[in-house]
Amino acid sequence: MHEALRSIYERVLSRNPGEAEFHQAVSEVLDSIGPAVDKHPEYADARIVERICEPERQIIFRVPWEDDNGDIHINRGFRVEFNSALGPFKGGLRFHPSVLLDTVKFLGFEQVFKNALTGLPIGGGKGGSDFDPRGRSDREVMRFCQSFMLELYRHIGEYTDVPAGDMGVGGRELGYLFGQYKRITNRYESGVLTGKGLIYGGAQVRREATGYGCTFFVEEMLRVRGQSFEGRDVVVSGSGNVAIYTIEKVHELGGRVVACSDSGGFVHDPAGIDLELLKDVKEVRRERISAYADKATGATYTDGGSIWEVPCQVALPSATQNELDADGAAALVRNGCVAVGEGANMPTTPAAVRVLTEAGVAFGPGKAANAGGVAASALEMQQNASRDSWTFEHSEARLRDIMRDIHSRCHQTAEEYGVPGNYVAGANIAGYARVAEAMLALGLV
Ligand code: GLU
Repeated sequence: MHEALRSIYERVLSRNPGEAEFHQAVSEVLDSIGPAVDKHPEYADARIVERICEPERQIIFRVPWEDDNGDIHINRGFRVEFNSALGPFKGGLRFHPSVLLDTVKFLGFEQVFKNALTGLPIGGGKGGSDFDPRGRSDREVMRFCQSFMLELYRHIGEYTDVPAGDMGVGGRELGYLFGQYKRITNRYESGVLTGKGLIYGGAQVRREATGYGCTFFVEEMLRVRGQSFEGRDVVVSGSGNVAIYTIEKVHELGGRVVACSDSGGFVHDPAGIDLELLKDVKEVRRERISAYADKATGATYTDGGSIWEVPCQVALPSATQNELDADGAAALVRNGCVAVGEGANMPTTPAAVRVLTEAGVAFGPGKAANAGGVAASALEMQQNASRDSWTFEHSEARLRDIMRDIHSRCHQTAEEYGVPGNYVAGANIAGYARVAEAMLALGLV
């Protein structure tokens, strides 16, 4: 790390003790931007680096709710409003028992640069709760969402902070959240949340956008190497919203997804994942992925284990942070993998990134590769602001153009800074530069 940046990083460590994921996300960015700060000293003027590492506002609140048996539960809610130099804070809400302030800060930090890379007018933030929706009835989820919004509503707004979904927060949760916001404020303010259902102000392609966008990004990485998805075996970890629509688009582009997973284990289906069956298991029945193997002939389920041992030419980690470690990366390299694109946020450990890049595998970091979700959210905001709604075809074409632009922005920036093909450096420098320039223009605020 650049010497001036190292001392800033050390200060981040001491001011945020014990926040390992936040430290990891910060160190990855500061590791990359040294050449940009050398070339453009103004990017570090007015203590921009320190200011970027410090959230503008962090909100932590109590969320009490009652389950179907009348027992009372207390969860913790978070919203970290990280940076609003480019537009209103924008980023998802994650409901998962593992969520801590650390988790939300690392995700919010990543979101700032991801959102900058889209070229759209959105700042970065993130929120969530340690609530576990798994096994809860619809009514319990509704009561939790209503209680969560009872505090959150005062911090958000279409010009202030615009949450969306993330792990554990999909169409059902966003509906309950929006309903409660509308009731409390007496405003049909569609632009306050994105990822909404189509019937109440949602946008075409938002649901598919993270998965489709990741596939488009990797398609570009393959294209510059004279390759494509055609005839390739692909492994997609996870089986949530990102994984499902990644699989759909990879199949449309002629690839074959042979494995996917959940936190319990993975399925291997050499004939290619049956998407209708997967959607039925995960989206309709809300079952574990093992139920897929029970129903699909030729598919096998492995409890635990490493999905990265399944041979493939393209791997798309789309489950959660730090799921692909150095051993997994070594297995991918051994089996001839040529490209990895992060559908999830920070799913690849720093050691795994080193293994992949040293082996010459094209590596698309999440803040570039999975930016399609938030880009489609910004398009949803545009449609809400103009009281318009676009067709599926038009929305998908916009998403594809945005992903191609992000790819070329990362690719060109990496070349400009003498690290051709290094998408990590390209994404971090291009994203950082945009935020830094806006912050300089806005003065010391
Ligand atoms: N949660 C998604 C992400 O990690 C989407 C955020 C949004 O649409 O605001 O980028």
